[in-house]
Amino acid sequence: MADVFNWQLGRTMSYPHEEHHPKSQFAFVFNTNRCIGCQTCTMSCKSTWTFSKGQELMWWNNVESKPYGGYPQHWDAKILNLLEEANPGGQVWNNADPEPQKAPYGTFDGWTVFEAAERKPRPEGPQRALGYLPTDDEWRAPNIHEDTPVGDMFQKDSQYGGSVSLPEHKVWFFYLARICNHCTYPACLASCPRNAIYKRPEDGIVLIDQERCRGYRKCVEGCPYKKVMYRPTTGTSEKCIACYPRVEGKDATISPTGAPAETRCMSACVGKIRLQGLVEIDEQGQWAKDPQNPLYFLIRERQIALPLYPQFGTEPNGFYIPPRWVRRDYLTQMFGPGVDGAIDQYACPDRELLAVLQLFRANQQVIFRYELVKGPKVAEIEVTMPNGELKTQEIFNDTVLGFNKLGEEVVRVTVEEPTFERPSAEHVNSI
Ligand code: SF4
Ligand code: SF4
Repeated sequence: MADVFNWQLGRTMSYPHEEHHPKSQFAFVFNTNRCIGCQTCTMSCKSTWTFSKGQELMWWNNVESKPYGGYPQHWDAKILNLLEEANPGGQVWNNADPEPQKAPYGTFDGWTVFEAAERKPRPEGPQRALGYLPTDDEWRAPNIHEDTPVGDMFQKDSQYGGSVSLPEHKVWFFYLARICNHCTYPACLASCPRNAIYKRPEDGIVLIDQERCRGYRKCVEGCPYKKVMYRPTTGTSEKCIACYPRVEGKDATISPTGAPAETRCMSACVGKIRLQGLVEIDEQGQWAKDPQNPLYFLIRERQIALPLYPQFGTEPNGFYIPPRWVRRDYLTQMFGPGVDGAIDQYACPDRELLAVLQLFRANQQVIFRYELVKGPKVAEIEVTMPNGELKTQEIFNDTVLGFNKLGEEVVRVTVEEPTFERPSAEHVNSI
């Protein structure tokens, strides 16, 4: 095992390979507050990459209703249980002393999947990352428990009334859209005895070499997010490839000048919850400071978007704006100690944040830099913060400009969506 630095844990951790970093890293932000669970993303991926024989139960993109839903079923509860069994009562954060660059969420004092596998080998045999192989039944229903809420409605004598008032709903669920996180320290890669999995040096996308793979399924067992799937017709494992031809700018329709484009699932998102990026990695392997990059701004500057289960230790590159209405203890387990700060900001976004949030799904090309053009103040609203305090939010109709990798302006949106009224006399039959 080598010692590597994991900024999401605020410390070094052990990992089976030496630290190597790509030049830039594929990353994304999903805003759970906006996802409507329409599964358009799921189907856009399915119809592009996984429509063939042997891929019937393969969903590289899935959207699950939390807390009951999961694909494969119970994936997160199971891995959390395994970690707790390995390190009882020790899976805790110390967020007393956060440091923006090296430890933005404080320090994780528990064990990662790599450390748990090393320190407490399981009776079934040694593993490089603590994990398990889901059963066929668990893979069978990608949207099991869709739209199933949890809460007081299941308790005897409870009332529905008042169940949906902020800051936390008594009856709740939310949609968690998921793809492979193209982790900085992939557990799939660490677990592969054939070294068939690799991380591309140019963009950090994690791929499986189909020639080398022998279908041992160690990656399926090792990925704590269960984002590698086995294909029985080829006897190999497959996973999300981050639509790499699009990221390489090879789709001439979307990227006539060859600039990187977003993946299919990002481009198709009806709820406008997704923003994809490529962040620059510096010589020390850390995110290079780049506050005008919308992803850097949301994740590193503002910390409004948080990693999914950072305690697993893979340094996932998928980040989520947590849902406002859900129990905080549940969210803290899922996204780490940054949840309160993220929700406070989302409840009452300041001028710049509100403008940057307009970039979600505004264009199919990857936005590398944004600029603001200030507009007039158009509203002032009173907001009740999660702690009950009243705050005044000023809204300005600013314009946000997005530029692609080549510095070309590819999008220009205003905070206020323009409205158009069609003269009724000219459109008598329209509805
Ligand atoms: S999410 Fe899983 S499959 Fe994807 S890179 Fe991380 S460990 Fe590998
Ligand atoms: S397309 Fe967007 S809104 Fe619809 S389920 Fe997927 S992530 Fe959610």
